[in-house]
Amino acid sequence: MACIFCQIAAGERPVHIVYEDDRAIAFRDIHPQAPTHILIIPRDHIDGPAEASADNEAVIGHLAVVAARVAADEGIAAGGYRLVLNQGRNGGQSVFHLHLHLLGGRRMGWPPG
Ligand code: AMP
Repeated sequence: MACIFCQIAAGERPVHIVYEDDRAIAFRDIHPQAPTHILIIPRDHIDGPAEASADNEAVIGHLAVVAARVAADEGIAAGGYRLVLNQGRNGGQSVFHLHLHLLGGRRMGWPPG
């Protein structure tokens, strides 16, 4: 299995999981860009947000539901946080298994770099 996030979903790589259910897993980013930096991924492989379709809209929407729950659990909901989906080279995507970044614990800049 070549996809690193599929390996994480299969339990084949050590990550710090903060939430999981039958459709999604949330774990801490290995190179955090904020005091709280969590990745939320679907268990089933989707290359990236450009693959969004009628067939997977429920699971992609579920990632946002998980993000809200994890943000509350992490204590960053009240202060605010940022959700990011990177697509392709210009979007800054480096792992080609769809993942929602949950970033919080500091003030974010805009526009993003
Ligand atoms: P992106 O650039 O949007 O594709 O984000 C990929 C993210 O995955 C980066 O923030 C990496 O730090 C993170 N990452 C890559 N490998 C791992 C890993 N084994 N465990 C946790 N996070 C990882």
